[in-house]
Amino acid sequence: MTVRTGYDVTRHGASFLWLELTEKCQLNCTHCYADSGPTKSHGTMTTGDWLAVIDDAAAIGVGVIQFIGGEPTLHPALPELIRHASARGIATEVYSNLVHIRADIWDLLVECRVRLATSFYSDQAEQHRMITGNARALERTTANIGKAVRLGVPIRVGIVTVLADQRVEQARRLLTDLGVEDIEVDHVRRAGRANADADVKLEELCGQCAGDVLAVYPDGAVRPCVFTRTLEVGDVLTSSLRDVIESQELVTARAAIRNATENSRDCNPTCNPGCHPGCGPRCAPGLICNPFK
Ligand code: SF4
Repeated sequence: MTVRTGYDVTRHGASFLWLELTEKCQLNCTHCYADSGPTKSHGTMTTGDWLAVIDDAAAIGVGVIQFIGGEPTLHPALPELIRHASARGIATEVYSNLVHIRADIWDLLVECRVRLATSFYSDQAEQHRMITGNARALERTTANIGKAVRLGVPIRVGIVTVLADQRVEQARRLLTDLGVEDIEVDHVRRAGRANADADVKLEELCGQCAGDVLAVYPDGAVRPCVFTRTLEVGDVLTSSLRDVIESQELVTARAAIRNATENSRDCNPTCNPGCHPGCGPRCAPGLICNPFK
């Protein structure tokens, strides 16, 4: 088995989980990996189903859960799920567009020491609007990034390059001026609305999802990651997370990803071990393998 320097795709089980709580989102980004938007739903997973997944995750040894969507703060059960994970010793991160965070969620982020992550595009409202479909997105997201910094909520920001003339360096300066220290630049992953084809090609993945990471989708489907949107390896509505982890389907999918990404340059081979989700996580949508952290 080939092991690339910097991360270990030989790890089995799951140490990191994406819980994609919803397809609903206030924004309608042109490149959305999940094809989310205002008219979408929270899916078929009930709060009880999500709680059971978190219980299984704790029993399996998952160390980090990232709540993502869609916009996870729109899901009514998010506070309960964060508390449930925290009570079981699982570190949590919320990947939000930061367009609107309710007061009780801010309190929860501080109380449960939740980390925030968000995507950012430009220092110009018009460029942000062209990408997100919302004329006030820049103003609101910027204000909430500043609020997170003031409250001491850890935050990392991925500047995602979508437009040819995108003001990336100006955006980085704006974020630095706000006090954000963890800033990365990434390209769009070809999944969801960013891909006219059926699914992202395995060769375009970073390869991390050949290892011990998994994603649970709003309909209960389990896939190696949030970008492998047609590579289903199980369903937590019909079996347990542990059963999925022990399944031949997952072994086969991870082997296919490993073979397809062995020569990938998406992850810098000197990465040590920056692209493992446990170190960031780094391989979330809009985020990047950062070999230098
Ligand atoms: S990319 Fe994120 S913020 Fe934009 S529509 Fe998709 S889920 Fe919402």
